[in-house]
Amino acid sequence: MWHDITTTGRWEGEIWDRRKSGEIFPKWLSITTVFDEAGKASHYVAIFADITTKKQTEEQLEKLAYYDPLTELPNRMYFHEQLRKTISISGRREDKTAVLFLDLDRFKYVNDTLGHSAGDALLVKVAERLQWLTRESDTVSRLGGDEFTIILRGLDRTDQVASIAQNVVDALAQPFEVVGAVVHIGASVGVSVFPDDGADADTLIKNADLAMYQAKERGKNCYNFYSLDMQDKLNQRLLLEEELRQAIEREEFVVYYQPKVDIATGRVTGMEALVRWFKPDGTMVSPSEFIPVAEETGLIVPMGKWILGKACQQTAQWNQRYGLSLKVAVNLSARQFQDEDVITMVDTVSRDAGLKHHLLELEITESMVMGSVDESIATMEKLRGLGVSLAIDDFGTGYSSLNYLKRFPINTLKIDQSFIRDLHESSEDASIVRAIISMAHSLELSVVAEGVETAAQLDFLHQHACETAQGFYLHRPLCSDDFEKLVSTGPQTL
Ligand code: C2E
Ligand code: CA
Ligand code: CA
Repeated sequence: MWHDITTTGRWEGEIWDRRKSGEIFPKWLSITTVFDEAGKASHYVAIFADITTKKQTEEQLEKLAYYDPLTELPNRMYFHEQLRKTISISGRREDKTAVLFLDLDRFKYVNDTLGHSAGDALLVKVAERLQWLTRESDTVSRLGGDEFTIILRGLDRTDQVASIAQNVVDALAQPFEVVGAVVHIGASVGVSVFPDDGADADTLIKNADLAMYQAKERGKNCYNFYSLDMQDKLNQRLLLEEELRQAIEREEFVVYYQPKVDIATGRVTGMEALVRWFKPDGTMVSPSEFIPVAEETGLIVPMGKWILGKACQQTAQWNQRYGLSLKVAVNLSARQFQDEDVITMVDTVSRDAGLKHHLLELEITESMVMGSVDESIATMEKLRGLGVSLAIDDFGTGYSSLNYLKRFPINTLKIDQSFIRDLHESSEDASIVRAIISMAHSLELSVVAEGVETAAQLDFLHQHACETAQGFYLHRPLCSDDFEKLVSTGPQTL
């Protein structure tokens, strides 16, 4: 200060001062020299301003920029900055830094059912638990929504990270109490480690995120380390997604038909439409490979509409040409079922194809309807209102709740293949099949057994009064020409 005053005649700056009360406060001081006629300093004029409020505002601004107001944890910006700094220190020290990427598993459910203030309260509690679990030197941040990150510094070995990640998963699997309700959420955690899984912050974050995503796919409530293999899988998946988009434009899909046979008479009474994808090079991709991708990307909606249209047109044509009344079953995916236009879509597509509604059956799975049961029942009722039949596919693998089954306005149960497969090896499976058949009958539902591969299986089903069978023993899924040949020759017998 004196240096400035003696050389330039003035000084300005921030100082800490003490009030009469003893309280320390920040003030902005400027000092100017007053010179006498001889040019000598005669006075110093000091002007000061109390900048307590200004300081507080600045601090608040910094807090807003760097901290999440709800949980008071560092936010995304602070996390990025910290990670960059940590990595450069870690690089010099040659130790390891881990990034944990966390996503809560059922946060949305809490938010939707208990309201946003419960959601907020839950986030605060999660933040507290995470901070309690970690060391002073680790940084827990909230990126937004229900996403959190943890930076673990100064590690020598990767296996230290595994136990911390497990602690995080365990801690969040414990119930929380918010607004008087007990909720179970759980978390999926992805881990990437510097320098093994990335040399810079962005790569580490991306890879931890990817590992988290895989943890979710593996069934949630677990942690997962990033691996190169994962990157390969992701790339393959992205490629598949791109090819799938093109396949829709180029109409590379073909609908196959697997006959359904009336066990008592041996006649083909209907068929299940099963999509096939033939790539331009002639290879066929199995639906179990691309349907999940189509489902996730939403491509299933236009694709499913095309499949439904195709199946309805061909069925109507065969029925007319050969004087038949074949009933076609078309698989409906979760995404399609939840689409608000599904009723109109089914109505117009089948109408345009000229197929009577009672000759169309839609196959849905239990897991599709269990999400929000009441809404699903409403959708099912509207579909039934069109005159369309409904079947529960893969029955026995899901919730199989009798209580719900009674309320579902369905016509048919399709016994899952897994029970038919082991019918003769497992007495348990045999009892399950028998139980499903008699339960279905008492609920006045018809039963289709799927995956029938042997005469013995068919025999068993016949003995236990299952009316319809579908499977390789009877017929494989056929291309439309082969299917037409089969039904054009009149009634089939076994
Ligand atoms: P899903 O609906 O359970 O279809 C039955 C699957 O079992 C078909 O496999 C069929 O070829 C196969 N299958 C039939 N009989 C036998 C048998 O005796 N033994 C064995 N081991 N398998 C048998 P596919 O065609 O590969 O389809 C797999 C799954 O992909 C279907 O399971 C369905 O979930 C889905 N999918 C197929 N086509 C469509 C479609 O057009 N739309 C939608 N949304 N999903 C479809
Ligand atoms: Ca099916
Ligand atoms: Ca099935």
